[in-house]
Amino acid sequence: MITLVGNLKLGGKEIHNIIRGSVGSGTEVSFWHDIWYGTTTLCQRWPCLFSLEKNKRCTVRDRLQDRNGMLSFVDNWRCGLSTVEELSEYRDLQEMVPKCSFSGGKDSWVWNADSSNSFSVQNVKKILINDRNVRRVHNMVWTGWVPLKVNIHAWRLEMDRLPTKKNLRRRKINVGDGSCVLCRSVEESALHLFTGCIVSSGVWQGIEKWCRLGPIFLFDIKDIFSLPSTIPGTNTKKKIIRGIVMTTCWVIWKSRNKAVFEDAKPRVCDMIACIKSWSYLWFHSSSKVDNISWKDWCRYPMYML
Ligand SMILES: [Zn+2]
Repeated sequence: MITLVGNLKLGGKEIHNIIRGSVGSGTEVSFWHDIWYGTTTLCQRWPCLFSLEKNKRCTVRDRLQDRNGMLSFVDNWRCGLSTVEELSEYRDLQEMVPKCSFSGGKDSWVWNADSSNSFSVQNVKKILINDRNVRRVHNMVWTGWVPLKVNIHAWRLEMDRLPTKKNLRRRKINVGDGSCVLCRSVEESALHLFTGCIVSSGVWQGIEKWCRLGPIFLFDIKDIFSLPSTIPGTNTKKKIIRGIVMTTCWVIWKSRNKAVFEDAKPRVCDMIACIKSWSYLWFHSSSKVDNISWKDWCRYPMYML
């Protein structure tokens, strides 16, 4: 839980950088670890001095003391300052001291995530929703002419939610041999299976030829789903390509499952044949275009445009 909260970011800021110490008596705010002066913690600002500090958990009051109405820094180094970096950081620290003050009373904490400066569940929720919207940029576009299960499969692939061996291992599930079942050369991850694997590369080359596309370069899962939008032509052409791309992903996954669970040996030519026939069946049954010819579809799927 501590790790979770430690890693949590709101509005791009780590959670411990959002809560700011407001120094009253200085007995609760940590001199090095809390943000109370400037916009970062002092341990980040002066790492050389922090490494020399004996009591890393000291408070602001421990280090800044009032002497005759003037604040001064009370050090507690484990050895004297010697390097240029240490002396330079110390000069900066000395410049900070006269700018500090104790306002009196108890130390308090200010919510520093947005301009309101006040903590509320509603504000946190708003920031979390914004963060989620920023992070989730999808290239996958829902495509009506392929079945729902194929759309969902594509969506799960883009989110890296497929139960690949790598993902199962991450969830501490014993998968035995973790290598890709299609090529047996590297660990099976979604990235490898759908882009880097020699078998799936062969399939993509077949699609490239069939659909008369330029060379397909896939370095990331997102490249698969952004492919249709990079192709020149009408929206209908993009729609057909989009469905074929999804069908290709579906067939790669199905073939992988056959190899894992039925010990089948998928061949590139069979996988391409499968993509052609399933996509024909789905396009034929949902398209408004009459008389889609199987023979012409196999020759070039955009022949009717
Ligand atoms: Zn492989």
